[in-house]
Amino acid sequence: GAVFPSPSEPRVFTIANQKGGVGKTTTTVNVAAALAMGGLNVLVIDNDPQGNASTALGIDHHSGVPSIYDVIIDDVPLGDVIQPCEAVPGLFCAPATIDLSGAEIELVSMVARENRLRNAIRDHVLWREREGLKPFDYVLIDCPPSLGLLTINAFVAAREVLIPIQCEYYALEGLTQLLKNIELIRGHLNPDLHVSTILLTMFDGRTNLAREVAEEVRSHFPDETIESTIPRSVRISEAPSYGQTVLTYDGGSTGALAYREAAQEIAERGALTTTDHQGRGQQN
Ligand code: ADP
Ligand code: MG
Repeated sequence: GAVFPSPSEPRVFTIANQKGGVGKTTTTVNVAAALAMGGLNVLVIDNDPQGNASTALGIDHHSGVPSIYDVIIDDVPLGDVIQPCEAVPGLFCAPATIDLSGAEIELVSMVARENRLRNAIRDHVLWREREGLKPFDYVLIDCPPSLGLLTINAFVAAREVLIPIQCEYYALEGLTQLLKNIELIRGHLNPDLHVSTILLTMFDGRTNLAREVAEEVRSHFPDETIESTIPRSVRISEAPSYGQTVLTYDGGSTGALAYREAAQEIAERGALTTTDHQGRGQQN
């Protein structure tokens, strides 16, 4: 297949939306798989105690497996918990186990509690460089739906935010709050953070509503919204129960095609120059 361009330094994304069930995890694993199949070196960090991204990538994440919990709470090097995804060369995962559900509370009393994931990624990038290992081109962090310390760690670790938006009722509800929270993080903890990418998911072109939601999102975020829209597809929803992404489960399906196109667009356009909601320009 086509080879996607490699960025000059690792692009770190947080996949965020404070609503549950909007396609965050599905987008994380499928964009990651498509980027890896495009020839790039990709790491998925499962930062959700539910461990759905680990499951979807077929990664062992039963209790006791070295996981992102050990990295965030016990300073275990990220390299010690990363596992290769068997089905897709170039795709790796730092899994989440059920232990991570305690991390929100344990983090509260820790020093530099918002920076722990960022520091772990930074140390790992430097370690790979020293060891002469192939760098990661992309790091995608899958987040829980809440804005707790785990999500804040992801926002501090990332430079770019990818927001999946479900083309249904109330899609835009909560988005204003999410953008406000991103502004807060940007102001206090991570001046580089910006929404670079919006992906419309679970699109059903037969309904007027889906088309209206899509149009509204595109008119508000013309630069950020990816051209390719992810259709509602049974193949996409079936794949995780086989420990697979849709790209390996049914690579010829419309869902696989859409995620491949979205990933290619993300890779090709690089980080966008965006304007934040107070009118200041933000250059990457
Ligand atoms: P989140 O991580 O935001 O909670 P998920 O990615 O887990 O959301 O998606 C929620 C549910 O919707 C899952 O059961 C998933 O399989 C399903 N789903 C996600 N995207 C699609 C799609 N494009 N078509 C059909 N089902 C989808
Ligand atoms: Mg999820």
